[in-house]
Amino acid sequence: MHHLPGNLFILSAPSGAGKSSLIHALLGQHQDMQLSVSHTTRAPRPGEVNGVHYHFVKVDEFKALIAQNNFLEWAEVFGNFYGTSRTAIEHELAQGRDVFLDIDWQGARQIKAQVPSVLSIFILPPSVAELEKRLNQRGQDSQEVIAKRMQQAKSEISHVTEYDYVLVNDDFQQCLLQLQQVVLGQRLTLQKQQQHQQALLTELLAN
Ligand code: GDP
Ligand code: ADP
Ligand code: 5GP
Repeated sequence: MHHLPGNLFILSAPSGAGKSSLIHALLGQHQDMQLSVSHTTRAPRPGEVNGVHYHFVKVDEFKALIAQNNFLEWAEVFGNFYGTSRTAIEHELAQGRDVFLDIDWQGARQIKAQVPSVLSIFILPPSVAELEKRLNQRGQDSQEVIAKRMQQAKSEISHVTEYDYVLVNDDFQQCLLQLQQVVLGQRLTLQKQQQHQQALLTELLAN
């Protein structure tokens, strides 16, 4: 997957840190970036559309997809299964589009083991109180689910040391700009420029 023209990015964060909002804002500004749509066994939230936010499937369908080796990674998060399918990502990267994976630390580990060139980004909330406030303001999860997600936040954040970049989502526009800088910077690495600027390098180095 590392030889494909697009770049692969992982974004992780404790639930409510603003990961989905940041990804959607970034994608809104760039036509050549794509969010990978995961499969999940979680029930759709109000407003979530099958095939857009997630591919919503039953547990036995999910298990069949695992057996068919469909997933590049999968994990159990908050008692539900989540997984990233391999073919969709490969297709986008092959077209030269950058692909974003909104996945937890368990999935990030599995991807890094298979795709060493992946760039991983961790989003932190500015405080515990603000994280709880955002989960409540989003207004999509029950108090019980929010309590569970607040408990899980610490364990997700404890894996921050496994990531390449760390952004604090305090001011949204500032964090969005930082995310954009990290993503655009990745396109300028030697490995990518050797692919994209092949013709130029050949000309400049010719006798
Ligand atoms: P959010 O935390 O409010 O965005 O809630 P979601 O239900 O969208 O995501 C739940 C958890 O599952 C998050 O920790 C995600 O990072 C993780 N997740 C989502 N999609 C994937 C995936 O394809 N693979 C893995 N490993 N984790 C995922
Ligand atoms: P995640 O995908 O990490 O679970 P969301 O993107 O759903 O998080 O954001 C959680 C809530 O916080 C949403 O209601 C969102 O509008 C809000 N939010 C995101 N970023 C900020 C920010 N920088 N300041 C204030 N509210 C924010
Ligand atoms: P939510 O239920 O709020 O949509 O997602 C909860 C968590 O699951 C988020 O932290 C999200 O990043 C993670 N998640 C979503 N899709 C996947 C996936 O395909 N694989 C993994 N490992 N985690 C996922």
